[in-house]
Amino acid sequence: MDRELTLMVVHAHPDDECLSTGGVLARYAEEGIRTVLVTCTNGEQGDDQGGVKPGEEGHDDAAVAERRLAELRESVAHLGVDHLELLGYRDSGMDGWPGNGHPDAFANVPVEAAAGRLAELMERYRPQVVVTYDETGGGGYGHPDHVQTHRVTAAAVEATGIPDKFYYTAIPRSSITRMFELMRDSGVDLGGFEPSDDFGTPDERVTTIVDVAAYTERKLKALRAHESQGDNIFLLRMPEEAQQQAFSHEAFERVLSRVPTAAHEDDLFAGLREGR
Ligand SMILES: [Zn+2]
Repeated sequence: MDRELTLMVVHAHPDDECLSTGGVLARYAEEGIRTVLVTCTNGEQGDDQGGVKPGEEGHDDAAVAERRLAELRESVAHLGVDHLELLGYRDSGMDGWPGNGHPDAFANVPVEAAAGRLAELMERYRPQVVVTYDETGGGGYGHPDHVQTHRVTAAAVEATGIPDKFYYTAIPRSSITRMFELMRDSGVDLGGFEPSDDFGTPDERVTTIVDVAAYTERKLKALRAHESQGDNIFLLRMPEEAQQQAFSHEAFERVLSRVPTAAHEDDLFAGLREGR
């Protein structure tokens, strides 16, 4: 039986939707595909007003969460997302932060419990395509909530058997190298930061590159909607040429397909549109 073409993207925090998947969310929505964004946490461990970090005096978790969820709603409006689903878990903070130990922190929630809630959303929307991070939380990022998002999504995909295709977001190593060269050449102060050799996704794992150059402006608008976290979004301070390069394509690793596919594709829905 035919069902409405649907993309479900699962992210850890408000603002994660923009960089690695903002283009595909905007592009597929414009093509008439139903888009669903699931955000697992409320982002409590983000910056408070004036750049106050969690644990510092004056950091109000509840106010940060409220502001970030409002920013998320603005962001998804720019991206044309049809359905925003919030799982409402508590942000665990970066690896090593005191927030890691909070009993309600998303990273401490049993995988089966959260996967059960995500599975209900998969039952409701029946997405053909599901996207989340790889086992490292995305190209070696390692944030506990991103790793947990991976585990929970993989468990829900497995338990429901609903998606026809399952993807991880990817940042190809070669593109990171090019981007940093570009930034150095244009004199951007990277504060001594050098990507390590194992940063990013090995190019041979990348199966799918989607051209989203037409949606660069909307991605930027969505990213700028997360104003309260602007200090942490270094891509906003990149020169335009580097932004264009960083934003124009989104890369993915296909880890499951129940439909015939080519080794390399340029469309997450390749193999799913035929006969419609
Ligand atoms: Zn995040």
